[in-house]
Amino acid sequence: MLIEIVTLFPEGIGTLLDESILRRAAEAGAVEFRLVQLREFATDKHATVDDRPLGGGPGMVLKPEPIARAIRALARERPDPPPHVILTSPQGRTFSQRVAEELSRRERLLILCGHYKGVDQRAIDEFVDEQISIGDYVLTGGELPAAVIVDAVVRLLPGVLGDPESAAGDSFSHGLLDHPHYTQPAQWEGKRAPEVLTSGHHARVDQWRLNKRIERTRELRPDMYERWRKRGGPEN
Ligand code: SAM
Repeated sequence: MLIEIVTLFPEGIGTLLDESILRRAAEAGAVEFRLVQLREFATDKHATVDDRPLGGGPGMVLKPEPIARAIRALARERPDPPPHVILTSPQGRTFSQRVAEELSRRERLLILCGHYKGVDQRAIDEFVDEQISIGDYVLTGGELPAAVIVDAVVRLLPGVLGDPESAAGDSFSHGLLDHPHYTQPAQWEGKRAPEVLTSGHHARVDQWRLNKRIERTRELRPDMYERWRKRGGPEN
């Protein structure tokens, strides 16, 4: 997968992408990241990418021309496959594990990070395939949302997590939350990890984990539990 991120702050995102699993994913060739500085596509000597809102009011708006130049340059450089263009925006569809799974099946994502009051609507209409929000709150810029999207998507790519079963057991993957986890020592400060986990009996461990996932989901996320139950419960 190729992920291109058009941003005013490539260094910030670069640091996040250069960590742990994301870096290993890139080194292993599962994903290629390209960070593109939007200012490089400005044409004046001040590298201007924003201007005052037409009609007046506070704040600045990202101009359409540098965005158009950046996106067209990336398309010219690699015409195939065309990117799925995402704008990070509090007005977009809410990001979720299901959306991450959907995006992980694409070959090329181009994420445009908004800033200030946002992006000129004409650039959105011209280039953006979808807007994605990471929640009902407003951040200063699209860099953190882009990093959230990239992290959640890349860990789903084949070969990225050491054990392919790992992501499948995480919260949301089968409509349930994850079960509790324990590690050594089995006895810690007078608290014992559940006996079944040290029994060596795999079928019993699996059953215990499933029961805990169901129990937790029912308690912490009754909305999710109801959806899971209506879809057929353990037969999912
Ligand atoms: N005026 C915009 C609005 O109310 O919809 C908010 C602009 S916000 C200050 C600047 C940029 O941060 C946005 O263009 C977007 O790229 C990003 N952003 C802020 N909150 C976000 C969220 N919850 N999800 C995704 N992107 C967000």
